[in-house]
Amino acid sequence: IIEPIASPKKTIEIIKKYDFAFQKKFGQNFLIDSHVLNKIITSSNINKEDVVIEIGPGIGSLTQQLAENAKQVIAVEIDKKLIPILEDTLSDYNNITIINEDILKVDIVKLVEEKNDNKPIKVVANLPYYITTPIIMGLFESNVPVDSITVMVQKEVADRMKAKPGTKDYGALSLAVGYYSEPYIVANVPPNCFMPRPKIGSAVIKLTKHKQPPVDVVDAKLLFKIIRASFNQRRKTLINGLYNNLDGMFDKDQLKQAIENIGLKLNVRGETLSLEEFSNLANELYRLIK
Ligand code: SAM
Repeated sequence: IIEPIASPKKTIEIIKKYDFAFQKKFGQNFLIDSHVLNKIITSSNINKEDVVIEIGPGIGSLTQQLAENAKQVIAVEIDKKLIPILEDTLSDYNNITIINEDILKVDIVKLVEEKNDNKPIKVVANLPYYITTPIIMGLFESNVPVDSITVMVQKEVADRMKAKPGTKDYGALSLAVGYYSEPYIVANVPPNCFMPRPKIGSAVIKLTKHKQPPVDVVDAKLLFKIIRASFNQRRKTLINGLYNNLDGMFDKDQLKQAIENIGLKLNVRGETLSLEEFSNLANELYRLIK
């Protein structure tokens, strides 16, 4: 049995040995709690057939457990100072590939083609919080074959991902996540599970990708344009939000007609519409520009 990296003692030992300085700009808060780590591993449901992509391995605490459970782990780390440390802490494993890159610049589609014959991979990570949304939306929108994404994020972001229509957390992110996946909150994680401690609470969320989107939309790009426009001015009615934020794409009469055609009242607010209602609206408006 190899000693786990995810403990306060071992983490401090590694930090000291390499004289490593935490970089705030990279969102470096390393996980030091083995219970939380086990929850991530169990909920991600990985097995010896799986190729896993990890974003931001840090000093390798999660990477190590992923390597124990998966066939192959590809870990992408931006901080070049961590690369020699990872090569050392993970030297007992021959199923880990470390890539020193910015995840937002990696061609993940190509990576999955090369490493897994285009079969779906799993993404597991304790994310750098400053780029949570671009990472997740990038994975969804680029059509990378992904089975599930199990990630540590800010608690507030996890709540927004899972929010229901009409609540204060509900917005474009909730709708995008719901369009592409089924979200499940695995655990809430307090600051003391990390080193250094973040100021905010965290949560592990699992997003299981839909095989097919749950709604029938003719033009998904238009759908997301409409969603963004509706939430741009939250306090406004749907019709005004769309009129003001779609660069004159539709006049008021067209918007009025579309809203009525999907069975909604004209004074409805965007924040109350479900994904299905937004999809119906997008299909109505699509017919007008076709
Ligand atoms: N996985 C480790 C753990 O759980 O202890 C570290 C998690 S820490 C919250 C986030 C990690 O992502 C850091 O190692 C950081 O250097 C790395 N990172 C930050 N921005 C990145 C980027 N754009 N691309 C790849 N890695 C990044």
